[in-house]
Amino acid sequence: MQDVIKEIIALHLGKVLINEKLSNHTTYRVGGKARCICIPKGIDELLTLLKIIKERKIKHIILGNGSNVLFSDEIYDGIVIKLDNFNKISINNNIIVVGAGYPLIRLSNDAMRNSLKGMEFMGGIPGTVGGAVFMNAGAYGEDTASIIQSVKIINSDLDIVELSKDDMKYSYRTSLLQDHLDFVCLEATFKLTKGNSEEIANIMKERREQRKLSQPLNYPSAGSVFRNPSGMYAGKLIEDMGLKGFTVGKAMVSMKHANFIINIGNAKASDIKKIIDTIKIKALSKYNVRLHVEQRLINWVGVSEKDKEED
Ligand code: FAD
Repeated sequence: MQDVIKEIIALHLGKVLINEKLSNHTTYRVGGKARCICIPKGIDELLTLLKIIKERKIKHIILGNGSNVLFSDEIYDGIVIKLDNFNKISINNNIIVVGAGYPLIRLSNDAMRNSLKGMEFMGGIPGTVGGAVFMNAGAYGEDTASIIQSVKIINSDLDIVELSKDDMKYSYRTSLLQDHLDFVCLEATFKLTKGNSEEIANIMKERREQRKLSQPLNYPSAGSVFRNPSGMYAGKLIEDMGLKGFTVGKAMVSMKHANFIINIGNAKASDIKKIIDTIKIKALSKYNVRLHVEQRLINWVGVSEKDKEED
């Protein structure tokens, strides 16, 4: 690993952070250190980096804004790649082509200023385009799949290919990329509809206010922890089990929104994980409901990154 880091630095592929705390790169503000975080300058540097990773079989992950991940407290003995420099945007009529590192909140504001409807739901989601494409992020009955036209990725052979919306196999908070963790989303093309910027701005403002009222936005979190089981809300279930305010160490089930776990001061990732496990056990024993975590569980021994529905 040390040799590879030296090579990456010598090749000037981009910014390299060594033994960097992942808590600086996740919205939960938890996680151990990453042996190496690399922020490639552009596509050529990214491809070189991925080639090195593939040849040496090095553990790696693409990280967006870290707003839907729970890294363990252990060291991540691999390379975390951030696509901050993949942040170009072009808007032509009702089509937006945008890089994977572009922030969703800025994107929804750009769409609004260009009188384009369809991205209002992204207005309060603190992720990047890559994270939204991967997660099929959504809110208010809309999701990324409802506006996506195509996605440019790097596949396992390190070829750059354009995938159609159908290729992406979207369903509730699920996409093709979740079954191909070596694919890298580079860019997305969205198709929106013409609207009135003032009306769009009003909808976004109203929803921002709703979020402030219903979500604990003044504490670090990673949004909703559990997927909603069919026909019910995970938050309501957790509240009904009397778990609002349930605390382990410095992590707590939010009093404001039971499907949020908040970091109330230097929480460990393991505090959050213990709350998750407790909620799952109680939901199963009390209501016979199997809850599945929406967030990605990364670098946990014996735990799959995706909490699969079929488990
Ligand atoms: P990350 O958390 O960095 O990554 C998530 C996954 O995507 C990881 O597995 C990562 O490897 C993968 N990934 C990221 N970028 C790429 C890429 N370029 N190529 C390949 N894989 C990639 N989510 C909703 O759906 N709706 C909401 O309303 C919502 N509200 C939230 C509110 C708050 C306060 C917070 C903190 C979170 C909320 N979220 C919500 C969760 C989160 O913001 C979204 O899931 C978002 O899309 C994640 O984007 P990210 O860039 O932070 O991804």
